[in-house]
Amino acid sequence: MRDDQSLSIKGLHAIIIGAGFGGLSSAIELARLGATVQVFESSTDLSKQGDVIRFEANASRVMQPWGNVLDEAVRAASPLDNLTILDKGGRVFLEQPLETVFEGYPNVYVNRGHVQRLMLDYAVSLGIEVNLGARVTRVFETDVSAGVQIDDKLHEADCVIAGDGVRSTARALVTGLTDRPKKSGYAIYRTWFPLEVLRGDSVVEGIAKSKRPICKIWIAPEAHAILTTNVNMQAGTCFLTHKADMHEDWNQRGNIQDMLADVEGWDPELLHIIQHIPPDSLIDFKMLWRDPVKKWVSEKGRICLVGDAAHPHLPTAGTGAAQAFEDAATIGTLMQKSMEKSGNAPDIPVVFGAYERLRYERTSLTQRMGWETRHIWHQTDWDAVAKDPNYLKMPQPAWLLGHDARNYAKENFEAVIHHLQEGTPFTSKNVPEGHVHEEWTVEMLLANEGQVVDENFYKVRD
Ligand SMILES: Cc1cc2nc3c(=O)[nH]c(=O)nc-3n(C[C@H](O)[C@H](O)[C@H](O)COP(=O)(O)OP(=O)(O)OC[C@H]3O[C@@H](n4cnc5c(N)ncnc54)[C@H](O)[C@@H]3O)c2cc1C
Repeated sequence: MRDDQSLSIKGLHAIIIGAGFGGLSSAIELARLGATVQVFESSTDLSKQGDVIRFEANASRVMQPWGNVLDEAVRAASPLDNLTILDKGGRVFLEQPLETVFEGYPNVYVNRGHVQRLMLDYAVSLGIEVNLGARVTRVFETDVSAGVQIDDKLHEADCVIAGDGVRSTARALVTGLTDRPKKSGYAIYRTWFPLEVLRGDSVVEGIAKSKRPICKIWIAPEAHAILTTNVNMQAGTCFLTHKADMHEDWNQRGNIQDMLADVEGWDPELLHIIQHIPPDSLIDFKMLWRDPVKKWVSEKGRICLVGDAAHPHLPTAGTGAAQAFEDAATIGTLMQKSMEKSGNAPDIPVVFGAYERLRYERTSLTQRMGWETRHIWHQTDWDAVAKDPNYLKMPQPAWLLGHDARNYAKENFEAVIHHLQEGTPFTSKNVPEGHVHEEWTVEMLLANEGQVVDENFYKVRD
């Protein structure tokens, strides 16, 4: 339990939809404060959640009090201390040093399914009821409760937290809008494979033998490829973002020959890696694009969205999961503060409203960050690179990595509630200093596709 647990939220009963990073972290944060928590997850096996995830310090700070979850994740991780950015022909333009620790908290690059399993085990050890193979088909609320339907059974609690991902079922009820994603025209080949498959090929054997983890990004017009290795787990990933026209599908089997055709004439090292990828490990992950979701809380204030359901991130943001952890820490802290204030029970609509206000502007910006990085890599301004190769770097700003979501929620609890109830001014401080929030849409950003843009486009470069 938390050291600062002056008042527990023991009377609170919460239902969580989804056992992804958003759902599990929300469940854990509430259960650690004493709430009764039920999780409903449609998948039957979470360990198959594939490849890699990078949790930066803002996420590991949230995970730090969760039993041995962080220690075990770090043990399975390979600390990445360098990122190499090359053009498609293999010419190196930037060696970007990466922090392995930021303000005392590790940046962890690790297998996703492994961390999800650690979190699931910890959740169960806290007494959280986790129901796998339980697909929520409907969410509902009354003035005093909220619930979900699974098959023909209703489950009711004080509130519902929907961490049901990018294609959220709950989102339509919360926003009152139908999901209208835009065709991206892109897909990502993704794979997680044993490094030993590279042995015996002199072009890539060095990757398998390396004692240090490797991270390389090849950039080209409208495409990029990423190689990462995990020395501890002796595994590698190879992603290729490529043009494709199709429906959203996250499980379609990829074809190695098609992947090779997409990188014809690229760096021989990349081609050799792809040739050795075990065919049955390759997924062609089809993406659609979504605008920032402006409403995260239902009409009666009893249902809220977290994680990708609230703020779908492009992979190039590199912080989608971390933002889900920050959501969870924010909700937990606000529940506790609200409980302290009332001395009785947290005021759920007030907590959820404050949560949305504290988080929306920051995550709108982190979502945008994914677009900006993607633009830099796909529509590269080579004149800017010639002046300073750091133009290509993966952003690692202090306002992002150094954020303490629990503390921020604690410190801003009163001010944000005054703001929402009495209209007093409130300025977000979890964004870059001096940043003024601007709404954006996918359409606005797409207007810049295919062209080099001036620096006013970029809101997030550190
Ligand atoms: C290729 C790629 C690379 C990425 N790399 C990074 C990275 O390095 N760092 C980072 O921070 N982020 C990264 N991200 C983003 C990150 O993966 C997501 O932001 C994060 O996983 C979102 O977590 P979530 O729990 O909100 O959603 P999800 O992980 O999608 O989980 C949602 C869960 O809800 C369940 N579910 C859905 N509908 C229902 C229903 N009706 N009933 C019950 N259960 C349901 C699903 O089965 C799933 O388990 C990457 C994303 C991609 C695609």
